[in-house]
Amino acid sequence: MLIKSAKFIISNSEVAKCPNESIPEYAFIGRSNVGKSSLINMLTQRKSLAKTSGRPGKTQLINHFKINDNWFLVDLPGYGYAKVSKKDKRTFQKYITNYFLQREQLVCSFVLVDIRHEPQKIDMEFMQWLGENQIPFCIIFTKADKLKPKVIERNVDAYIKELLTGVWEEAPQYFITSSSKNIGRDDILPFIGSINADFYERQKKPF
Ligand code: GDP
Repeated sequence: MLIKSAKFIISNSEVAKCPNESIPEYAFIGRSNVGKSSLINMLTQRKSLAKTSGRPGKTQLINHFKINDNWFLVDLPGYGYAKVSKKDKRTFQKYITNYFLQREQLVCSFVLVDIRHEPQKIDMEFMQWLGENQIPFCIIFTKADKLKPKVIERNVDAYIKELLTGVWEEAPQYFITSSSKNIGRDDILPFIGSINADFYERQKKPF
């Protein structure tokens, strides 16, 4: 998929105020510092698309970007940030939960995980919650350039194994990426492209 255009549309904290367009939407979420902004910039080949919305004060919002005029990339706030107060955490949880439960256009979410770390409780719980609510998601492992191929393989295997010892019968699809080495773009964009193609194909049919 060629990225012909990537435009920031709106930031807000209410799902009801998200753009009212029926185009497929993909959410990106993960712990703070996981490499989400870098990944979004790598995918869209824009130097600071995600950072534009990442100005202080904007980081805790739902950020919509329109790509190629036919899909939305949604940059959600990073979770698990220790400095956020309990009250802020609750508010955050509420609107993010609402976003996932209510956003009909959401066709797939990408949960970002730093490939160097062992499975973290907060990520596991979040994925479990997505599964329980039948919200489709994939895992994106980030920062793969920091490890040797053998270690990447070992860490991914350990991660998937951990998921399968939980409630999962089948592991979610996953992608291995590095924003600094431009790895993973050629897997993720065609994946999005094929979901988009199905979405628009279904719209053509009367039933
Ligand atoms: P965010 O908080 O999840 O948006 O994370 P950022 O994209 O701002 O990245 C957090 C830190 O990780 C920054 O110092 C980035 O330079 C670094 N980083 C992000 N992606 C990669 C990557 O693919 N490889 C390496 N080596 N560092 C990365």
